[in-house]
Amino acid sequence: MVFHWRSIFLLCTLLFLSTLTGCMPGTQKSQPKQPSSPEHPQPSTYFSPKEREVANLPTLEGGPEYSIRKPHPVSNDLLQRKYPDVFVLRAPRNRNEVALTFDDGPDQRFTPQVLDVLKKHRVKATFFLMGSRVKALPEVTRRIRDEGHVIGNHTYWHPNLPKESVERMDWEVRETEKSIQQATGDRPRFFRAPYGEMDEKRLRRLRDMGYYITGWSVDSLDWRQLPTEEIKHNVLSNTHPGSIILFHSGGHWTQDLSTMVEALDEIIPRLKADGIRFVTVPEMVKKGS
Ligand SMILES: [Zn+2]
Repeated sequence: MVFHWRSIFLLCTLLFLSTLTGCMPGTQKSQPKQPSSPEHPQPSTYFSPKEREVANLPTLEGGPEYSIRKPHPVSNDLLQRKYPDVFVLRAPRNRNEVALTFDDGPDQRFTPQVLDVLKKHRVKATFFLMGSRVKALPEVTRRIRDEGHVIGNHTYWHPNLPKESVERMDWEVRETEKSIQQATGDRPRFFRAPYGEMDEKRLRRLRDMGYYITGWSVDSLDWRQLPTEEIKHNVLSNTHPGSIILFHSGGHWTQDLSTMVEALDEIIPRLKADGIRFVTVPEMVKKGS
């Protein structure tokens, strides 16, 4: 009888302890599902207050560019040929113009540096912004608009669109429109898909929503955090009249884009010396912003 009561006491103690440590099956609290929210990197005490501020910037839901990006030169080209009035990949070569484009901003670190370089060289560009970041940084968004650049829609949380429903894409596009309109008063008319991932069904839906879909013909590969010289080489050896050149003015919070900023400062005068003019995407395709 004594043994029996001791066994019951031991069993109760074990049950209590395992409940506290959460190791009993069924005792762990399930995490609330947030399909439209990305995981935010949790800032640790290791980071300075400035770094923690940066860490709180909404991140790319679909993942960093280097883990998702797959070039689709043929499928994007076929889409462009089938929908030449709504899918922009490049402009004809008969004008000495290129368009600089910057994705994934605004952020606090690199977007202001990009704007400084563009201002220094008196060049206008097109920024495809994430709605969640516009909402977090409306003053940086307004600076982009106030300095004469064009703002495009790059979804709210940066999901990989073909893996999501068309309804989810509608939400992403509308919510980003709202954020940009609240910050600047303007509605964007140009759209760029996260990771450049687009298909015919989604393209038709975006067309019906009144958007021009914008790709690129030259990739700086700045998202790979390459040395300045390599970014310069990628751009200068591939650019032709009519190029749409892809850069990033923000990214995952661990990403350092400072070599891109240095390269940009050298690329612009080199192209100008060759007689190239810099235009926004709407100017390039004569569609108005
Ligand atoms: Zn992006």
